[in-house]
Amino acid sequence: MARRDREREQPFDLALAKVSRFTNTPVDQVSQRLQEFLKQAKRSFEGRELDANSFAAVCTHIAGIGDRLPATFGDRFLFDSALIRGIGDDFGEGVALSRMIVPRHESDWGHERVSMPSEDLNFAHMMELIHLPGKDLLSEVDLLSYPWIIHELGHYILARHSDRFIPAFRDELKKTGANLRLGAIADRGQAKARAEKTLNDVFKFWSPTYDQQNWAHELTIDLMSLWSCGPAYLACFQDVVENSNLNPYELTEVHPPYAVRADALLKGAGQMRIGGFSLKLQQLSDSWQRSQWKNYRDNRFLALARPELVDGSLKVAFGLCRELKMPQCTAQRVANLSREAAKYNGDEIGLDLLLLAWFVYEEKGKDAFSSWEARVVEQLVKQIK
Ligand SMILES: [Zn+2]
Repeated sequence: MARRDREREQPFDLALAKVSRFTNTPVDQVSQRLQEFLKQAKRSFEGRELDANSFAAVCTHIAGIGDRLPATFGDRFLFDSALIRGIGDDFGEGVALSRMIVPRHESDWGHERVSMPSEDLNFAHMMELIHLPGKDLLSEVDLLSYPWIIHELGHYILARHSDRFIPAFRDELKKTGANLRLGAIADRGQAKARAEKTLNDVFKFWSPTYDQQNWAHELTIDLMSLWSCGPAYLACFQDVVENSNLNPYELTEVHPPYAVRADALLKGAGQMRIGGFSLKLQQLSDSWQRSQWKNYRDNRFLALARPELVDGSLKVAFGLCRELKMPQCTAQRVANLSREAAKYNGDEIGLDLLLLAWFVYEEKGKDAFSSWEARVVEQLVKQIK
């Protein structure tokens, strides 16, 4: 082979090595598809249907996907994968969770979409990665924080159902915009400029964009997580925001301030009639107004943290949960937990496990919970294997 051709094959060999190391792993199917796609690209290149630059680009793209596949497939990977699948089954056909959702152990919670190569341009396959903090070790499973999985899956659900979510949220935003314009109709000079700035800010932070980096998506996802996990989601949210180093009024485009998220969750819990489980969060939220951060609750914050948009989020989020027939964590469901906890012996994995973990911790305390969690997780892994 001429040296030039050999050089051109290097990206191919590299990409093939990167994706074929996943043969016979839990992502074997993805690996096979990527290998096949690479080989097809090579055939097209050899048949002169694909030029050298395009061939190299395909190889680099696929090598990049290989880099994003989970790095390890230990017991925690098996457990987390089974849990995600179980949650998907509980969500049912309305949500229809993809089978291409895999956990990846990272430094923090997150959701990542990796587009798979596809010959059919109208149907791009996506691989969804749910980032879970920690290493691929069973000892790092923390069921009390696992309702965040629902939040991260919420990003996937909203992406999948964006044709329903985005127009519904835009309607809410339009109403607010119209009211703000009406309210500013008589303004002149500086007052008018201020009103226009507020209006622009509200749209900048709240518009539901496809990249999901906005308040509308985050609040809706929090509320969908509350819908399915109830008090378990309230508790794991509280665990994060109890940190007094966090400024609950911080304004960024990506996430609504914690104070706004807490407000939405409190209102949501009230609507779901599980408000009795949100008393601690209510206290915390009240205490923020006297905290070291209180001065950040300024006019700009108040102009953006509009209660009517929090209400709009509730309407859209719960409406979507009903449309997709997502299981709801009702007060009755919580009341049944004590009976279920008594008979649960680590045989089913899904949404219930998250609720039971919350319940056992609340009822029995930290030490009893830790041994319960270790026993249940070990039992489940044995069954999965
Ligand atoms: Zn999020």
